[in-house]
Amino acid sequence: MSFEEHLEVQEAGGFSIVRFRNSIIEVGNRAEDAFEALRRFVSTFSCMKIAIDVSADPYLPSSVLGLLVRLHTQEGVEVHLVNAPAEVVEIIHITRLDRMLHLNDIEIGAWSSSGSDSEASSTVGLGGYFVECPSCEAEHRIDKHDLGIRMTCAECQAKHTVSAEMLHNATHVYAKCPRCEQEVRIPHEDLKTVLSCEHCDATIEIRTVV
Ligand SMILES: [Zn+2]
Ligand SMILES: [Zn+2]
Repeated sequence: MSFEEHLEVQEAGGFSIVRFRNSIIEVGNRAEDAFEALRRFVSTFSCMKIAIDVSADPYLPSSVLGLLVRLHTQEGVEVHLVNAPAEVVEIIHITRLDRMLHLNDIEIGAWSSSGSDSEASSTVGLGGYFVECPSCEAEHRIDKHDLGIRMTCAECQAKHTVSAEMLHNATHVYAKCPRCEQEVRIPHEDLKTVLSCEHCDATIEIRTVV
């Protein structure tokens, strides 16, 4: 079984988000399959964090909450729920599941069914982001796995949590050129654009999910 049967993946401005294909009731009834799909997704992309769009459903069955918690406790994955409706946010606070599940808001474009768009010649995985400190606008280099961590600004000492919104608003992104192994820095909007490495002229395309 591949995860695609259960999950849709979207790149939302340099950031990948998954969503269940089936209705949340169905996901709840087949929680074991959904859990396995999430586990496969996480291991395929070796990500330690997963962002799941739950905006479509006014509530999450306890079996779904259970599988998300298991993903965290059993697999060590940091689970971020994206655009959860107010009712879901409330339940997560009341049940104190916010100690295990993170809540994020992020603007997501229309979901396009992620057909297997074949990769260009040299598709390169994203290394991370350059974001501005929300307090002083100093630039910070953020690893792609740093979603949810607390960071202290070296310039103004303000403490911030790296949120999905912050990554979404990153000014630049970086990746390692597969040919010369130097770091390539490009404007965020140039993700998924064919460009040449500034160090060696290799033709590359930087993507969040490779
Ligand atoms: Zn700062
Ligand atoms: Zn290069």
